[in-house]
Amino acid sequence: MYDPKSLKAEEFISDEEIRATIAYADENKDNLELIDSILDKARPKQNGAYVTCAGLSHREASVLLACENPEKIKEMYALAEEIKQAFYGNRIVIFAPLYLSNYCVNGCVYCPYHMKNKHIARKKLTQEEVRKEVIALQDMGHKRLAIEAGEDPVNNPIEYILECIDTIYSIKHKNGEIRRVNVNIAATTVENYRKLKDAGIGTYILFQETYHKESYLKLHPTGPKHDYAYHTEAMDRAMEGGIDDVGLGVLFGLELYRYEFAGLLMHAEHLEAVHGVGPHTISVPRLKRADDIDPDQFDNGISDEIFEKICALIRIAVPYTGMIVSTRENQEVREKVLKLGVSQLSGGSRTSVGGYTEAERPHDSEQFDVSDQRTLDEVVCWLMELGYVPSFCTACYREGRTGDRFMSFCKNGQIRNCCHPNALMTLKEYLIDYAAQHTHDVGDELILKELDNIPNEKVRDIVVKNLAEITNGKRDFRF
Ligand code: SAM
Repeated sequence: MYDPKSLKAEEFISDEEIRATIAYADENKDNLELIDSILDKARPKQNGAYVTCAGLSHREASVLLACENPEKIKEMYALAEEIKQAFYGNRIVIFAPLYLSNYCVNGCVYCPYHMKNKHIARKKLTQEEVRKEVIALQDMGHKRLAIEAGEDPVNNPIEYILECIDTIYSIKHKNGEIRRVNVNIAATTVENYRKLKDAGIGTYILFQETYHKESYLKLHPTGPKHDYAYHTEAMDRAMEGGIDDVGLGVLFGLELYRYEFAGLLMHAEHLEAVHGVGPHTISVPRLKRADDIDPDQFDNGISDEIFEKICALIRIAVPYTGMIVSTRENQEVREKVLKLGVSQLSGGSRTSVGGYTEAERPHDSEQFDVSDQRTLDEVVCWLMELGYVPSFCTACYREGRTGDRFMSFCKNGQIRNCCHPNALMTLKEYLIDYAAQHTHDVGDELILKELDNIPNEKVRDIVVKNLAEITNGKRDFRF
């Protein structure tokens, strides 16, 4: 029985409800009256002094996903852009993944770290190696990391992860520092989530991979990850452990995308219903070639067009949730989805353990082939030339704006008086400390122009003063 408030995986992600949703979407995919009313519901509305968005249910969003009418799809994309502009403006938050260890006891059939892969080089960073990787990342200009590890209670126990987090936060190299560590590790216990919270993590990210239970069991034939309920209920345990920013995602390519899309939104609805706050982010990874993994062996790959439609509809359905696109996507696709609602991008990524300290991109322990192989500086410059403001901001969680506090901050429009100034000030730090000359010139011009987009005059004056202080060597201003 479907119940978004239930704490049982099979009740809040009900197979029956997903199938009924897909059937309902098929029946209504040409129902223009219904489609117009769904689009109307999702449009930003003036609510007193603020603009707010109602979002969409999994059923409503699934009707839009099924709709193939080119005019309506155009409307969907225009709406996604409008919503993105209303809440995220032209800022794009920048991060990089840091792979700590690829030891893994699971048998995930799509991942090269699976236990049976005997030829992949197994590596686990020592604390000294973590230090070197972090210095390399700081020297690129990164302030925000997502740490990644395989699941292995012997090689990568929680104590190891906690030690790495401590090391990462402790390193202050030149003007560099990592100010936010997000964590992407396997589902764990409430007690361990509490430890991660106490270590000062930002978001806890865990991809569901697939919401289709039968496929899930086949795709994860062995290891602790085989337990569908334990994996699916992980976010509830994370929230019980005090982590209120959690990141969802499915690995597109494993199952039918319409099934995954409905499941993903049901998961978001469940978190909102039970904890009063939806997911902080949603990631949209697509299956990639990697070591012994051939994506053509999987039947459910999605085209770039469908990928773009999914991104646009996530933006419309959950307007306050950040959306993350990794370097699994190439420059062209990234450019398209930035417009449709993506708010975070990784840059200069290496997906192998120890990859940042190697002169050449290593391939022997990569988790997946990287499509966007540009340097961070190239990505930053490209974003600015497209009119975006790359942001190295990490202020929200450091100021206690997490969970529902972040959501209400987002909803009451304060984001423009905080996030925009923070983006400009952290970009200025990047330009001075790390940028190539051309990037620096483009950035200075952009910052000057973007000052006008800070609505509050007092805030603007403070930003101008802080920018001068940053030029004089001070760092880490934030609202
Ligand atoms: N071991 C942890 C877990 O099981 O959740 C954490 C992270 S794993 C290093 C990060 C993610 O990479 C996985 O959740 C999966 O979605 C994705 N991934 C695995 N194999 C991939 C592939 N061949 N192509 C693209 N993404 C892949």
